[in-house]
Amino acid sequence: MLMMLLAVTTLNAQDPITGHYKKALVIGAHPDDPESMCAGTMLLLKQQGCEVVCVYFTSGEGGIPGKSAEETALIRRQEALNSCEVMGIRPVFMTQVDGNSEINKARYDEMKELIAAEKPDVVFTHWPIDAHRDHRVCSMLVYDAWRQLGHTFDLYYGEVMTGMQTQMFSPTIYVNIDSTVELKRKAYTCHVSQGTAGNVQKWHQVIDVMRGREFQCQHAEAFVKQRWNSSEILDR
Ligand SMILES: [Zn+2]
Repeated sequence: MLMMLLAVTTLNAQDPITGHYKKALVIGAHPDDPESMCAGTMLLLKQQGCEVVCVYFTSGEGGIPGKSAEETALIRRQEALNSCEVMGIRPVFMTQVDGNSEINKARYDEMKELIAAEKPDVVFTHWPIDAHRDHRVCSMLVYDAWRQLGHTFDLYYGEVMTGMQTQMFSPTIYVNIDSTVELKRKAYTCHVSQGTAGNVQKWHQVIDVMRGREFQCQHAEAFVKQRWNSSEILDR
């Protein structure tokens, strides 16, 4: 039993993400999604000299009951700016609208062009099976860009509010975020309008601890890496 535990600990001591990339994009559907999904990993990558960009697919226009879309977007964009300032990471805002995100030729091109211009060697986005339409749309547009750009970057899927939003997620890759989890919490606490100091934070604290148990550490973030094979056809 001890030998087995030692073997697992040794196996889990490293991951294929931290220390392996020069430029990362994290593309989340709403302000607070990138942070919930993988702020710990973003911060680790940054500490190791990787340039990290936090991409907000919408401005969260539907996220504050009783306020107009315009007013909500202003509030949530400022919260995202505050969060990125805490992390020391550059934000980028796309033009999709919360609750009304689109998949069409123009939107496919928009995502492809953004990623092509940023030239990342790794991208993180939502796992595609999700209760929220915007999360699914975001994931599919990123996946399409990965195909259209010829798999020139590694693509990882992460989880957000698992159970309520992310569904059927069985991760295979883990990152130990013990050294960055406190700053992760500070970052997503900036999203005050989303109750991130309350329910969302508590939810993701549980996820971080659960994934940590699976990875033999205190806190972890978990991912699935997109695979491909050379016989795939570009069938559009
Ligand atoms: Zn979201």
